[in-house]
Amino acid sequence: MPHVVVVGGGIIGAACADELTRRGASVTLLERDELASGASGRNQGLWVPPEDPALHAIASRSLARYLEIADESPLPFRIDPRPIGTVFVAVDEEDLTAAKDTLAAISAGGFAVTELDEATLAEAEPAVARDLAAAWFIDAGHRLDPAALTVALALLAASREAVIRHHLSARALLTDRDRVTGVVTDEGKIAADEVVVAAGPWSPRLLEPLGIRLPILGVRGWLVRVDPGRPLARHLVRTAEGNGAVAAARAGDIARSGLPRSEGYGSIVHPYDDGTALIGSSRAAWLTPEPEDPSAPRQLLTNAIRIVPRLADAVMLSSWWGLRPMTPDERPVIGRVRDGLVVATGHGSEGVINGAGTAELVASIVLGERPPFDQSLFDPFRFA
Ligand SMILES: Cc1cc2nc3c(=O)[nH]c(=O)nc-3n(C[C@H](O)[C@H](O)[C@H](O)COP(=O)(O)OP(=O)(O)OC[C@H]3O[C@@H](n4cnc5c(N)ncnc54)[C@H](O)[C@@H]3O)c2cc1C
Repeated sequence: MPHVVVVGGGIIGAACADELTRRGASVTLLERDELASGASGRNQGLWVPPEDPALHAIASRSLARYLEIADESPLPFRIDPRPIGTVFVAVDEEDLTAAKDTLAAISAGGFAVTELDEATLAEAEPAVARDLAAAWFIDAGHRLDPAALTVALALLAASREAVIRHHLSARALLTDRDRVTGVVTDEGKIAADEVVVAAGPWSPRLLEPLGIRLPILGVRGWLVRVDPGRPLARHLVRTAEGNGAVAAARAGDIARSGLPRSEGYGSIVHPYDDGTALIGSSRAAWLTPEPEDPSAPRQLLTNAIRIVPRLADAVMLSSWWGLRPMTPDERPVIGRVRDGLVVATGHGSEGVINGAGTAELVASIVLGERPPFDQSLFDPFRFA
């Protein structure tokens, strides 16, 4: 069985370590910081059905794996054993088209969608505004703790002898002619039969010295956590997210108007069992270590209060952001890019939703086994 170095201790790297060790490979996972220190520990913690039909198989396999390990995990993590359900709303006529497209895609994935009239909406979610254009109930949506899930997957790998290294960067990939043979760290070289780069938005930095260019942009997204004092919602409550790839910023635009503003706001209210709620999210191209657009939480709250007015009285608890690794078509890049080198990144807003399914595909590529689903959809070179 091969020795595999996995670079990145986010949900993708941890899931790969779990799956590879399940299939008998020996794994060393390198995380330059702590496990889940990137977006994997800073996201909204939702498994909701993907809108892209190409992702249905990978997403459902991921959910199945998370539910499977919930009981055996060395680190307990929170996940709804059954769907909590989602109340999906269109605020005004302008939102209706986007909402209907989203719902059509979700129902094509086999999830029941029911339109709610004023009375059934009031019954399902008393705190949701009544003056909305339309509302639906989607029989889907699991809440989970994404940081704990990431650590749990890494610990499961460790229980099968994987070596998990924290605070150790892969500085560069080692090569022998056209083959990748390991990584270089501050502690020296680590040889590997295969390297899996799952370093989120930082993946291109490792690949570019080998002439491998992947169009992955870091896209900053904000979240806000509030305490409304008493439970706010029984289900997830959401609007259609402003989709569409975020373009890389142009120097001339920044010269004219400053650093990029957040855009593509969508409201998702994630109600916690303790009565608090997590609200997201926004999109903006990542350029600087500190937020380019610190006004994002204000806009997030404005939008969320529009659909759940009682949020206006909630106590503000905290706000933070994470960086999504985003491709132009918002599908991940998963595949072999050199002998000895596999990439798994670019999961955009759905890295948790698609994490364990990604790991199944990675393991099949590394071990030369039959892929669990059509891998051409995720071809890293499809943008060439
Ligand atoms: C606001 C927000 C809300 C979101 N909500 C959801 C949601 O509800 N559901 C969902 O599915 N997705 C959600 N996402 C998206 C999800 O968080 C990401 O798709 C996912 O976390 C990406 O995981 P990753 O492992 O690829 O990257 P990361 O989590 O970024 O992990 C990469 C890791 O690699 C490490 N690293 C980088 N370079 C090196 C190196 N050279 N050597 C060693 N280590 C290195 C980093 O430190 C990092 O820990 C959200 C994202 C944001 C920002």
